[in-house]
Amino acid sequence: MDLGLTGKVSIITGGSRGIGRSIALALAEERCRVVICARDRERLEETAREIRDLGGEVLPIRADVTSGQDRRTLVDETLRTFGRIDVLVNNAGGAGGSNFTDTSTEQWTAAFDLTFWPALQLSQVVVPSMMQQGGGAIIMISSIYGREWGGRPAYMTVKAAEIALAKSMARDLAPYNIRVNSVAPGSIRFPGGSWDRRCKEEPDTMERFVKSDMPLGRFGRPEEVASVVVFLVSERASLVAGACLNVDGCQSRSLI
Ligand code: NAD
Repeated sequence: MDLGLTGKVSIITGGSRGIGRSIALALAEERCRVVICARDRERLEETAREIRDLGGEVLPIRADVTSGQDRRTLVDETLRTFGRIDVLVNNAGGAGGSNFTDTSTEQWTAAFDLTFWPALQLSQVVVPSMMQQGGGAIIMISSIYGREWGGRPAYMTVKAAEIALAKSMARDLAPYNIRVNSVAPGSIRFPGGSWDRRCKEEPDTMERFVKSDMPLGRFGRPEEVASVVVFLVSERASLVAGACLNVDGCQSRSLI
């Protein structure tokens, strides 16, 4: 199936490892030109090398998405190099804190600074280019815990905010042929990621968690999220806008 992504230009925040890295690799396989950003230059270059080894075209940019200046540089450099932006994947994100009483104001602020504001403000910066070009696609990498209770209020709140933002942007930007969707992964394991660390630190607890919460009997893989993102940003998903798609092997329990 031709996804019509050849030559398109995509930005993936937090594209050096985990889900973001897999999305970058998958888009490069579809002959998309990819721009990846992260804070760690070494890991960023490593992922860029992997993409080049696939024959892909990549521009790695060291950028901290919490910095307005870095976000501007990311977009400016992309436009200077490739002259357009067709796809934005707001992937970088996360939150600290545990339950409501144990989550500090600093942790709430940090959660919004890393997850919500970059997703909103990068979208605001790329939308004018997309409008000028006649269209584009934006994805928020949210979480199933933005759709249902997941224990950590700061994480749930910023992930729910991303879903709400995607929906409202989708309504407002549809007339410009800009499709905005969110993706809600379940628990995704990869080397060096948080679930991998927990599996090593608390193997018995994690084994029980998989038994009770994962109908497929395993964690998800980042490539499984990446495939869905690639489809959603492609022309094959031309009628999909304002959706939030679970990629969780039925881990979540919500009916909606
Ligand atoms: P991760 O934290 O392992 O990797 C995130 C990437 O973001 C890395 O490339 C890192 O360098 C980059 N990054 C972190 N802070 C940054 C910053 N300030 N500026 C620029 N880049 C930064 O994350 P992951 O597990 O792959 O998760 C990616 C996204 O998917 C996150 O939004 C996360 O909330 C969401 N998610 C993950 C899971 C999971 O189980 N792994 C499940 C649901 C949703």
